[in-house]
Amino acid sequence: MTNIVVLIKQVPDYENRQLSDDFTLDRAGSDPVLDEINEKAIEVALQLKEAGKADNVTVLTAGPAAAESAIRRALSMGADNAYHLVDDDMHGSDAIQTGWALASAVGQIEGVDLLIAGNESSDGVGGAIPAILSHFLGLPQLTHMRTIEIDGTTITGERETDDGVFGVEASLPAVVSVSEKIVEQPRFPSFKGIMAAKKKPVEQLTLSGIGVDGEEVGKDDSYSVVESATPKPPKQAGEKVTDEGEGGQQIAQYLVAQKLV
Ligand SMILES: Cc1cc2nc3c(=O)[nH]c(=O)nc-3n(C[C@H](O)[C@H](O)[C@H](O)COP(=O)(O)OP(=O)(O)OC[C@H]3O[C@@H](n4cnc5c(N)ncnc54)[C@H](O)[C@@H]3O)c2cc1C
Repeated sequence: MTNIVVLIKQVPDYENRQLSDDFTLDRAGSDPVLDEINEKAIEVALQLKEAGKADNVTVLTAGPAAAESAIRRALSMGADNAYHLVDDDMHGSDAIQTGWALASAVGQIEGVDLLIAGNESSDGVGGAIPAILSHFLGLPQLTHMRTIEIDGTTITGERETDDGVFGVEASLPAVVSVSEKIVEQPRFPSFKGIMAAKKKPVEQLTLSGIGVDGEEVGKDDSYSVVESATPKPPKQAGEKVTDEGEGGQQIAQYLVAQKLV
């Protein structure tokens, strides 16, 4: 095995996300961070490299210039190099367009044996990019993985859903998407790692450089459009029942009043 590519996405900080007037993410309005699920994907890739299953860990992102800080975080964790697709024409791209651009960017990276993505991002929450990527690249896909192992040109692991845990296998190269359970805690960048990251190569890609026409991506040409957005109301505080001998009765009355029983 030679190269693992981890797909990373910079997302607005979890605390203060908001949409612009055109229903695209207001990236300037909140502090951007590397999505936590992607930190976990990087961690598992680094562990595979440390186990001798890969020579190199590359990270790839499609995002604005500011996504450079997410790349630096990935490099300071220990990834070897990075590719950054940054192009104004990408603004407003839907999932299919983003998947197409990412697949075209992967075509620029040599010796890719495994692509690791998060199951779903914490901002777009589409959960579709890994499948779209495997479709465009013509590669097998394993989803919802909570463990992965590599043996030669075979990847195996446990796929967990609400119904249970399934043992699955695919031949490499493949696309794998991982769940929160893939690792307990991603490593924290060390001071040495942060200093080393400053010197690691980051290759900037443009749409024309990866052979994608500006009209294949972007809001004006997207396959789907967000037409409205209504934030969910904040959660109400629950009702507290203090049991002074009639707690059970009070709970039953509450459930009846709410038409829950
Ligand atoms: C109609 C429509 C319009 C949209 N317009 C905008 C917009 O204007 N601005 C905007 O910010 N978003 C927009 N989005 C959302 C945007 O398309 C998605 O963020 C993007 O397609 C990725 O989808 P997701 O975040 O749901 O990824 P998911 O499929 O949930 O992500 C799963 C994994 O795929 C990988 N991945 C996802 N995105 C990237 C990426 N960019 N680079 C590298 N790896 C990645 C990561 O590993 C991630 O953990 C729009 C979506 C739709 C449907």
